[in-house]
Amino acid sequence: MTAKLILGTEIREEILEEITREVAEIKAKHNQVPGLVTILVGENPASISYVTLKIKTAHRVGFKEIQDTQPLDIGEADLLALIDKYNKDDSIHGILVQLPLPKHIDEKKVLNAINPDKDVDGFHPVNVGRLMIGGGEVKFPPCTPAGIQEMIVRAGVETKGAEVVVVGRSNIVGKPIANMMLQKGRGANSTVTIVHTGTKDLATHCKRADILIVAAGVPDLVKPEWIKPGACVIDVGVNRVGEKVSEKTGKKVAILKGDVDFEAAKEIAGSITPVPGGVGPMTITMLMKNTLKSLKFRLGIA
Ligand code: NAD
Repeated sequence: MTAKLILGTEIREEILEEITREVAEIKAKHNQVPGLVTILVGENPASISYVTLKIKTAHRVGFKEIQDTQPLDIGEADLLALIDKYNKDDSIHGILVQLPLPKHIDEKKVLNAINPDKDVDGFHPVNVGRLMIGGGEVKFPPCTPAGIQEMIVRAGVETKGAEVVVVGRSNIVGKPIANMMLQKGRGANSTVTIVHTGTKDLATHCKRADILIVAAGVPDLVKPEWIKPGACVIDVGVNRVGEKVSEKTGKKVAILKGDVDFEAAKEIAGSITPVPGGVGPMTITMLMKNTLKSLKFRLGIA
């Protein structure tokens, strides 16, 4: 292996330790802790496991955490009233609504009802706008892109003047990370290209990348010959390609693969994230960071 592995599992631990320390300091000085509420409608098993992990992590770093589970048949007006209640609650700094919501509820309406200053997911149009403006305007960068940028910084990869190629233009990964990498400042100041399903020659663009960020959701889309020797490769893709029996639990688990042919790519890249254990663990970690930031904004110490 030639490439240095950038491990989200390790970086997560570093950041969660930092957050835990800061929460304790703020508690000692201001007698307040960050408060995070997750609103779950219904009992979708995948949603329950995501919410449980978020709440467990919030508890670990010393936050006040509330898991508010509502019945599947809750009306839209009642859900909006619940959000309003948490918008007005001064002990809550982050509000998350776990998606998907049942069909009778307008998802957009619900997400837009969250106070942008408590929108720690960073998906509210106000926060999307703040991200686009950049600099001091940014409050809550969306969590997966924020995690990607943090990994690049902590791996010591130079971003200033780097050619960054982002594969994928989704609102949750491709567009925001491309926008973040082109801003001035820490972990950015790069020259950014976004490629997507309408791009004529994917390979030629990818080959120019000093930093290649791939979020397409297509297993092994990026071939080793598309990678510039020494490049930093961030593989965001999480693709279920089969099932296996876990050695630890004896239960069936999904076999996950990224968007990059990892085994071949690691012989060419300078640094690379694996799947699983790469970008995945960073999303919840950055959610904690945004919730802490929200309290710091409130206290005027951010
Ligand atoms: P999406 O389906 O919304 O967007 C995929 C994008 O990739 C699209 O813009 C599309 O144009 C582009 N694309 C798809 N196939 C392509 C091809 N053959 N050539 C060029 N471009 C192509 O997906 P998303 O929500 O952005 O997620 C992308 C991947 O990242 C998925 O595998 C998802 O599971 C994963 N993901 C991981 C995390 C995490 O680890 N925390 C978070 C979000 C998404």
